[in-house]
Formats: sequence, C-alpha cells, structure tokens
Amino acid sequence: MHSTSFDFLAHSQQGNPLPDFSVEQLSISQSAPGVVQVLPHGTEHYRRAVVISAGVHGNETAPIEWLNRFCEQIVTGQVAVTQPLLLILGNLPAIEQGCRETSVNMNRLFCGAHQDYPQSYETLRAAELEQQVAQFFARFSHLQPYHFDMHTAIRASKHEKFAVYPHGNELLVTEQLAFLQSCGIYAVLFSNKPTTTFSYHSAKNHSAFAYTLELGRVNDFGQNDLSRLQRFDAAIQQLLSQPQQPRLDFDTHRAYVYQVTEELTKLADDFEFTFDDQLANFTEFSEGAIIAKQNGKATRIEGGARGVVFPNSHVALGHRAALLVKRVEELELKVLKAQSSSTLP
Ligand SMILES: [Zn+2]
Repeated sequence: MHSTSFDFLAHSQQGNPLPDFSVEQLSISQSAPGVVQVLPHGTEHYRRAVVISAGVHGNETAPIEWLNRFCEQIVTGQVAVTQPLLLILGNLPAIEQGCRETSVNMNRLFCGAHQDYPQSYETLRAAELEQQVAQFFARFSHLQPYHFDMHTAIRASKHEKFAVYPHGNELLVTEQLAFLQSCGIYAVLFSNKPTTTFSYHSAKNHSAFAYTLELGRVNDFGQNDLSRLQRFDAAIQQLLSQPQQPRLDFDTHRAYVYQVTEELTKLADDFEFTFDDQLANFTEFSEGAIIAKQNGKATRIEGGARGVVFPNSHVALGHRAALLVKRVEELELKVLKAQSSSTLP
C-alpha cells in the first residue's frame, strides 16, 4: 500500500512527531524535527549511506521545494530507494520566516563551531544536526557515506550551478567530478583550507563524499522552476536506487574547476569593493586590477588572473569578504583523469 501523500515541510513546521511508518519496502521514521530517515528493506543491497540537506539557509527555496517533493515521491513510491537515506530540512524557523537565518549564519557553525557563539536556535540546531548525522553514519559505518548540502546563491553566477569541494578530500577526485557532471554541475571550487560548513563537517568527521551545492538563484516559494534541477534529480535517484553505479566519464573539456587561492578579509569599516554588489560569481579580473579598498589601501590581483566568488562587503570585521579563485587548466585535469579508473563506491 502506498500512502497518498506526505508533506515533509508542512509536517516539520507544525512540529508534530511523526509516527514511524512503512510503505512498500521502506521504513520511514522521524529522528528529530525536520529530519527523516528512509530505510529500505533488503540490507544486502546497501552500498552507501546518503544524507541530503536543504534549508540550512532558510530563504534558499528551490532546494527546499525539491527536497519536499523528493520526500513525497519516495513515500508515494514514485522514486525507488535501495540505500539508507537521511533527509534534513535545516533551519526550520528561518524557512518559516523566509529569511536566511534568525540570528546567525548556520553554515558557519559545524565542526563544533556552534560552541564558539552565543546560544541561539542556529547553534542548538547545528549541534543537533551534527548528532543526527553522526548517528546515521555510525549506524551504517560499513557503507560509503555521502552528503549533499543544497543551497542557492544570492547573486548571479557565470556558472548557474557549482559545487564547493571540501579541502583535503583528494581521493577519487575525477570519479566525484564525473558524478557531479552527471548532476549537471560542471563548475567545482576546490577549497584551500578547512571550514565549518555542514558539508565540510561530514567530509572531515565522517569521511563522506560531501559537497555544498549551489544550484541557482534565491527565489520566493512557488517561484522556482524545478525542471532546472532535472539532471540533479535523475543522478540522485540513480545513486539511491542502483546498488552498483555505472561508470561515468569525466569530461575535462567541459569542466570548470577552480582552486581557491586567497581569501579576502574585511579588516576595516571603510572596506569597499571597486565593483557593484551585483557582480556575478566567478567574474574574472586580470593581474594588477584593484578589486577592493580598506584603510586607505588598495587590494590588487596578484599572481595571474583571478575570479571573485561570494563577494560581500557587509560581513562583520574579521570575516571573509570574498574568495579569489584560479582556474585549473584542462591539461592538469587530464593528468588527474589519467590517474583514475574506477567507479564511485
Ligand atoms: Zn546557502
């Protein structure tokens, strides 16, 4: 018997505990508000344990709508799942209020960083989600962990979709890049250092293949065209339904891989960019170009052309105002590709 419908978002916002239930070959249970575990019967087919989160920033609506629809499709049997899955709606009050956060940016609070901030919904929620993910991955410690943390960008981007690839996770790089390409994500940003994001937390503490996925622009609820996520949807369905993954080819020619080279920090109240706030992510500046001024000093691009990603002059003093990135040459990608030969676990 298939259940007729299940509205994960509405249910999470009402705050009612969900009784455990089973639908065709699946056991579904709520382990915390906005956290649902989907366990398929037939554990002999288990290969990977997959976490998908959305709404860590409450106003990033397309991923929230997608996750809600995906959950409904699982419950109604329209999407097949053979792998253990944890679905998470991150910041429930911010989703309700249509804002990014209620007091602090939740995607800076993982890897234990919530302990360094005054207590708020976000610090408590980050601690709770760390615990949820830890329990899930510990339960399936014999499986390959995955975590997709879905976001949308505030500004335009030269690349509509891109992934932030965690620092220090250099194993199986081209297989992961090939998988991201199958999701319709051709641009990837390699971090230059550890962070305290949700996806980095899973990569570092649970050895997960984990990414922050930027999947388009912020929009109002109901204004999103989910067909723009069609390839992502299909690739995730394949990952969750097929115990054995197909061999995917990494197309170096279509890849836009960037390495973060520098982080620009806001040090003075008079910090300003030389470009306007609408600048698209990945806009490139040539060597010598002045991109910002603070304390009467200019910041110039050095060491070759650099793209600017996530520029924001309104951050607090001492915080990141922008990332500077360098494109990885196709030749370097071909060398990487030649060194790898297996499919994703
Ligand atoms: Zn976000």
